[in-house]
Amino acid sequence: MSDLAKPWGSSKAILHADLDCYFAAVEILDNPSLVGKPVIVGGSGPRGVVAAANYQARAYGVHSAMPMAIARRICPNAVIVDGRHSRYMEFSNQFQEILGTFTDEIEPIGLDEAFLDVSGASMLFGHPIKIAEQIRRNVFEDLSLSVCIGVGTTKQIAKLASKRAKPSVSNGKVIQGPGIYVVWPGEERGFLEPLSVGELWGVGVKTLEKLNGIGIKTVSDLREVPQKSLVKLLGKSGQNLHLLAMGLDGDKVTQSRARKSIGREKTFSTDLFSQDSISGELVRICDSVAGSLNRKGIGARTVTVKVRFGNFQTFTRSVTLAQPTNSQAEIIKHVRALASQISFDQGVRLLGVSLSNLSEFKTVQLTLDELENDTKQLSLTEAITKIRERFGNDSLAPASLLKSGKLDVIRDHEQQWGPDRSGQDL
Ligand SMILES: [Mg+2]
Repeated sequence: MSDLAKPWGSSKAILHADLDCYFAAVEILDNPSLVGKPVIVGGSGPRGVVAAANYQARAYGVHSAMPMAIARRICPNAVIVDGRHSRYMEFSNQFQEILGTFTDEIEPIGLDEAFLDVSGASMLFGHPIKIAEQIRRNVFEDLSLSVCIGVGTTKQIAKLASKRAKPSVSNGKVIQGPGIYVVWPGEERGFLEPLSVGELWGVGVKTLEKLNGIGIKTVSDLREVPQKSLVKLLGKSGQNLHLLAMGLDGDKVTQSRARKSIGREKTFSTDLFSQDSISGELVRICDSVAGSLNRKGIGARTVTVKVRFGNFQTFTRSVTLAQPTNSQAEIIKHVRALASQISFDQGVRLLGVSLSNLSEFKTVQLTLDELENDTKQLSLTEAITKIRERFGNDSLAPASLLKSGKLDVIRDHEQQWGPDRSGQDL
C-alpha cells in the first residue's frame, strides 16, 4: 500500500493518529488476563454507560455511549472494568510525547487522538507515510499500544482516512485494518464522493435531515448543489460544507498546548547489562533529544533519566539546572551523573531521557571562566544543528558514537537497535 517512491509533492501533509480502543487497551495492558476477552470500560452501576470497548466486545454490537445494561445483555461474558482516568492521562502524555518528536504542529483531540501537520517535517524525517509508519512503530514499541493513522492533505481527509485504517467488525468477527490509510494529493474527491454526507464534519442530525430532505445522500450528490443553494438551505455553514465536499477544508492544525517536555525512550529487545552499552545508548538518546531542542531553538532546565528494568520496575532521576541549556555536551554530562546513581545489575529494558522546564533559548549571563567554555560549546552545538539541517542527521555526532569508523546515531527516527516488530501484526 505504501508507495514511498511516489513523492507527496507540495500539498500539505496532515496525519490523524488515533489509538485503538484506548481505555480498553490500557486496561488489557495492565491486566494480561484480559487478553482475548471482550472488555468494556465504563460505569458498572445500574445507570452506567459504556466509555470504551475492545473489538471482541464490539463484535457483539457493544459501542461507546451505550447504556451498560444493554451492553451486559448483548455481551454477557464481557469483563466490565471501571475507568482509571489518571492512568489514561499517563499514557496519553507519553503518546503526545512520541508525536512531538516528529513535529511541533500537533493538535490533540481528547486523550487518544491528535492531528499532526508534518508538511515541514519531511526534510528531517522523510515521506509522510514513512513518518506515519515510524509513529506506529514507536507507539507500539514504547507503549505497547496500537495506533491507526490517516494521511491526507486536510484534517477532515486525514480523520476520515484513519477510520479506514482501523480494525472492523463484520458478522461478529474482528477484521484487521491496514493500520495506515493514505489519501494521496489529487485523490481527495474520489475518496469523498461515495461517502454519506453524514460523515462530513459538522453535519449533525438536523443538517443531515435537511440535506436528505432534498435528496442529498452522498458527498457526490452534495457536489452537484451550487454553493448558493447550500447557503440558502443551511445558512453560513453551507459555504463551509461546500468546501468540505470538495476536499478543500483549510482548517489548520492548531497547537492547543505548549510543549512541556522533549523526550525520547528506547525499549530493548533483550535487556542491557554492560555499562558500556548502557552508556552508549544514553549518549545516542541524548544526541537525538538535544537535536530536537536545537531545531526548535529552545533550552531546558530539567534533565530526567528514566530506567525500566527487566522486571518492569521503573526509576526516574532528575536534575534542575540554574540556567537553561541547549548544549548536547552538558546534557550528556548530567545524564551520565544521574545514571551513575542507579544500579543496572538487574538488566535494563528501557532507557529514556527527557528535558523539561523549556524556554526560548537566550544566551545567559556567565562568569568569565564559564563564558569561555560555554561560548565554545554553544557555538559548537549551533554549528552541529546547522550542519545536520543541511547534510542530514548522521553527518555529525559525538566521537563516542563513532563505532569502528562508522557513525552510529539515531537516524531519521529509525530504531536501529530496538526490537524490530515491523513484521508483527499490530
Ligand atoms: Mg481512539
